[in-house]
Amino acid sequence: MSNARQLKKENMRSVIQVIRNSDAFTKPEIAQATGLTGATVHSIILELEERGLLDKCGFSCSNGGRKAQLYKVANDYRYVVGMALRTNKIVIGIFDFCMKMLCEKSYEWMLGDHSVEETVHAMNEFFLELVEENGLKRDKIVAVGVNVPGPVDYRTGRIFSLRGYSKWHNINLADELGRLMGMRVLVDKDVNSGILLIKQLEKSPSDANMLYISVEEGIGAGVMINGEIYRGNHGVAGEIGHTTVQENGERCNCGNIGCLELVSSDFAIIRKAKAILGLPEEKKFTVEEAMERSRGGEKDIEEVFVTATKYLATTIRNSFMLYDPDEIFIRCKWLELNKKLFFKLIDDLYDENTLIDRGNIKISLVNEDRFVLKSAAAIVWNYELESLDSDTFSS
Ligand SMILES: [Zn+2]
Repeated sequence: MSNARQLKKENMRSVIQVIRNSDAFTKPEIAQATGLTGATVHSIILELEERGLLDKCGFSCSNGGRKAQLYKVANDYRYVVGMALRTNKIVIGIFDFCMKMLCEKSYEWMLGDHSVEETVHAMNEFFLELVEENGLKRDKIVAVGVNVPGPVDYRTGRIFSLRGYSKWHNINLADELGRLMGMRVLVDKDVNSGILLIKQLEKSPSDANMLYISVEEGIGAGVMINGEIYRGNHGVAGEIGHTTVQENGERCNCGNIGCLELVSSDFAIIRKAKAILGLPEEKKFTVEEAMERSRGGEKDIEEVFVTATKYLATTIRNSFMLYDPDEIFIRCKWLELNKKLFFKLIDDLYDENTLIDRGNIKISLVNEDRFVLKSAAAIVWNYELESLDSDTFSS
């Protein structure tokens, strides 16, 4: 791509980032927010208006001088679909250009009980049902972002594997689902789409160095270096749940010994708490219930959480030494429920470490509603912003 074209794209991308977060704006406001010249902003706004992305909406109030034209993102500009493929459910939401969720629905779906083909068909059926139920115009929907709990070649949408689900090996979900839905499908690993969403929500700088750590049934991390997701060669970068924390620990289903996931994931905590309480394996029991027991004074269960926190802190400290990020974001239900444990994690993290200055890194819990679903939609908008020539932005 020529330098001039690349520059034009970059300028347009900065303008779009700003207008997506504004209710209404004027050209001088965009120029100020992006640092671009008035002439550049003028030509970009004109082009976006021609593409149908912007509407004029009156004039700004001003003190004396000429009133400036106000613009806003067109209400019925294109929509995108976010889909979260989980091991026990499929969640679908439809979002507008400003990432406002128009509708959503969660469908119970046990991944292990179905063939890949059945699952892909179900994803399409659920989507059609949601569109119909909400009276949305099908032709306004332009692309689908899907996140999955495993490594993906995001350029082709091929899932390398979903651990524990042998049928999901080398599956090109983007092609298969795209054929059925008749639109572009983009697929990424859940933690990678998560860090993309965080970058948007936090309005992080374009060269941000961040880690996003997700603790759910499994544990994984999204790694962002200089504003770009670091994926590694096989999509497994950030698989911190499968780093060894207990040398003499159990064997994990990934093949390693003593993985972090066997100690600190929701799944591990539930399994250990059930064993302590003598509950049968098939009995439904949640990490919230385990936390309730712990806070109710059941020492053995409290110990499970303390151990989980300790090993999580060790792994985060190790990741820190590898990547030296400015910010670390953690999404973890049980740390959210017990802030004392979160503060303990931070203490454990720094401990006697002389290499990390306590004030230099921001560590926070992510508590965004519908995070996983929104991050699926974020895949599309992020990708589309990278390739502004695509259909999503053309009229
Ligand atoms: Zn493992």
